[in-house]
Parts: sequence; C-alpha cells; structure tokens
Amino acid sequence: MKLIKWPLLIFSCLIGIVLFNTLSFTRDQIKLTPLLNNAPINKVAVATRLSKAIQHKTISYADISNRRPENFHQFHIFLAKSFPLLHENLIQKKINELSLLYKWQGTDDSLKPVLLMSHQDVVPVDQETKKQWLHPPFAGEISNDTIWGRGAIDIKSGVMGIMEAIENLLAQGYRPKRSIYLAFGHDEELGGEQGAKQIAKYLTAQKLSFEFILDEGGSIISDGVIPGIESSVALIGIAEKGYVSLKLTANASGGHSSMPPKHTALGEISQAIVNLENSPFPANLTYSKQLFNNIGPVMGTIKKAVFANMWLTEPIVEKILSASQTTNATIRTTTAATMAKGSSKDNILPSEASAVINFRIMPGETIKSVTHYVTDIINNPNIAIEPLAGFGNNPSSVSPSNNVNFQQLTQSIYRVTQDASMIVTPYLVVGGTDAKHYSNLSESIYRFAFNRFKPETLKQMHGINEQIKIDDYLDTIRFFREIIQATNE
Ligand SMILES: [Zn+2]
Repeated sequence: MKLIKWPLLIFSCLIGIVLFNTLSFTRDQIKLTPLLNNAPINKVAVATRLSKAIQHKTISYADISNRRPENFHQFHIFLAKSFPLLHENLIQKKINELSLLYKWQGTDDSLKPVLLMSHQDVVPVDQETKKQWLHPPFAGEISNDTIWGRGAIDIKSGVMGIMEAIENLLAQGYRPKRSIYLAFGHDEELGGEQGAKQIAKYLTAQKLSFEFILDEGGSIISDGVIPGIESSVALIGIAEKGYVSLKLTANASGGHSSMPPKHTALGEISQAIVNLENSPFPANLTYSKQLFNNIGPVMGTIKKAVFANMWLTEPIVEKILSASQTTNATIRTTTAATMAKGSSKDNILPSEASAVINFRIMPGETIKSVTHYVTDIINNPNIAIEPLAGFGNNPSSVSPSNNVNFQQLTQSIYRVTQDASMIVTPYLVVGGTDAKHYSNLSESIYRFAFNRFKPETLKQMHGINEQIKIDDYLDTIRFFREIIQATNE
C-alpha cells in the first residue's frame, strides 16, 4: 500500500505546483502615459522627403565595380537641403568619405552622450524579381497612404526618421541636455567594415562612451508572427550573434580514381561535415526564457502552463525549439556547411579537398571556443581547421534589460503606440547589425527600429514590394522624438 501512496502524493504535489505557477503567471498592468511631445508633424512633407530619399540609389553591391559613390554624395546633398536646421545646428563629419557622423551639442557636458544609429545603404533589387514589384523599387511612389520602394523599411525610414525628429525638435526651439550623436554607415548590408567600423574607431579615438546606443534589429510584430500570440510584441535586441566561417582542408596522395583508397580527401571532409551536423552545439535557453516570461502569460492555457513551469518542461521546450530552423537559431550556435571542393576532374583523386562551414555564434561562446568544439567533433588530425579569410566577429556583449535606458525605451514605445495590450520584451538578434562594431562604446546597446510587421510584410525586408504606411512612418518619427526627450528629462 505504502509503495503506491508515495508516488501518488508526489504526483499530486507536482500538479499543485504546476497549477499554482500557471495561475500566477500573469503580466503587470501597463499604465499608459501621453506623449512627451505632441507637436504636429507635416504628414505630406515628411512622406515626400522619404519618397525622395528612396529615389537615391545608395545600393550596397558585393561587387566593387558596381558601386556608385556618387549616389551617396548626391544623397548627402539631398539631406543637407532637406534638413536645414539640423545642418545648421549639428556638427557633421564624414568618415571614410561616405559615412555620416553628426553631433548635437548638449547643454550639460557632465552627462554622457547618446548615439542613434541607422544606415544609408540598401540591398540591390534582383533583376528577376523586378517585374513583381507593384511600384518600381526606386521610384518612391506614394499610393494608398503608403510609401513604396527599396529602403522604405530597411532603412531609409530610420535615417530620415531620426533627422525629421531632430529637425522638428529644433523648429520647436528644443535643445538637449545630453549631446546626441547620429551615425549613418554606408555599407551595413556588406558588414559595415568600411562604414560603422570606421565610425566606431573614430569615436573610440575620441575617448567617447555613450549612455546608450540605439540601432536597428528589432521591431513591433503582430498577427501571429509569433504563433499563439494575438497582441503586438515589441522586440528589443539586447545582443546579437557572432559570425565565423571555418575552412576544413584534407590532404591525400591523389592519383587515378581506378584504384581509390577507402576514404578520399573529399570523403574525409564529407565525414567531418556529417559529424558536425550530427553534433549540434549545446542549447542555451537564456534568451528564449526571457521572451517566454514576457509572452507566456497571454498565451493559451497549455502553452502558458508549459512556459510557467520551465523548471519541469525545459527539455521538451528545447526539443520543440530545436526542431524548427527559425527557433533553433535562437538557442544555439548554428552550423551550416556552405561550400566544398574536391579534384578538378571526375577520374582524378583529390590531393586536396576542402569545405567551408559557417557558424553563427551564441553569446557566451567565441570564435575560439567554436573552433575548439569543431576540432573535437571532427577529431581527425588530417583535417586542418582555420578561419576563412575575410570577416568574422565574436558575439556582442549582452546589454541589461533592467536599467533606466531599457525602461525609457519601453516607455517611449508605449507612449507612441498607446497600446496597453502590447508586450515589450528583450530578445536575441540572430542576424547582424552595424551595432556589433560599437561594443566597446557603451554597456547599453539596443536594437530596435520603430516599425510594425505582420507575417506578410516581414518578407518585404530585402524582398519585393518593400513599403511603409505613412502613419507607421509618422510613428517612427514620434518615437525618435520621444527617445531624445526621454533621455533629457
Ligand atoms: Zn538594415
């Protein structure tokens, strides 16, 4: 009898804890406050200026021969004409000819400055997809209260939105206490080596340190971008993954393929790739847990119970997250075999075979630790492992989500949306942003561009029919105005 009772008791206790955790898994009531600055914004004028900005073909091409620096020069002239007060009151410095850095001198030099970032360049438009655009990609057409074209969301609306906000504040006679810097790189879509990296070098040489830095990398998503969530979710990136490509090379004696060894050099490389694919990096649920803590309370009962009891359900959650490509990328360093090479002819054994594996590195790991892990898994002294020449970067530092800067960011988002059902949450940025170059310039680096995405509009980023609703763009401007004022309250 006793043997049966004990398990029953433990089981009841477990159910009790799970129920208690689920029922007490709620979110704090959001108290909405009005905008700090409600001055009117001229809708037609700002939309027209963004439309014109889109017409400047500041395209980042991987192939140098396609690049057109003169388009960037023209864009700079356009900016100067469009924002006369800004160019009169802020100091401009060009870095590496095409990147732009501005300083708006504050009245109190004892306060740390703030840095607002964006980028001038856009990705090219695929020739094959040109016909699918409902409005030509570089015409900046305005139709149905929407501005169309490459850069509407990524991210001329950021460069222009910041400048509109400042021009508007200057027209109101506003002067910040903190100095405000603006940094607009010109090659973010190529990794930012010539732009953001050089701006960061310059700022470091000036011995500057920022109260916080704000770049793109998060947005407001809704309509099921996260399955099971009806309310909007504002994602603020607090960290981003690192990047490295490792080249694996195996050598062999070569010769004719009529009498091959058991494993050719290419076979050894293939085995190494299979081993790596079968041994994924360990999962790290730190960032997922933060996200689930915020979105869990508004989910359906079963999901809510799962996320409220991660002490019990973590292994299951890890399995589910690992199963999807999208969520897997948020919990571990990913392994992607992308290139391979053997001999030059079908009947020649390769005397050398190689492959390239691309890794997106989780915060907490480094290029070095990834290389160690890969070496251990491959466990073959005949395979040399080295980073592919070019660029690679360690993951960013992780910015706090419990400090005053994060709070101000959150409150500014709420003041603009006036949506108490919206959830604001920190998250991990899986792609790369220019902010990665600024790691040593601030402890608080956040990645959030005020924009609204649904599943279908998310595809427009780097895709076809990129567009922004004028009302959303107005909110982008309001958001930057709020952020500037909030940090100077
Ligand atoms: Zn971008």
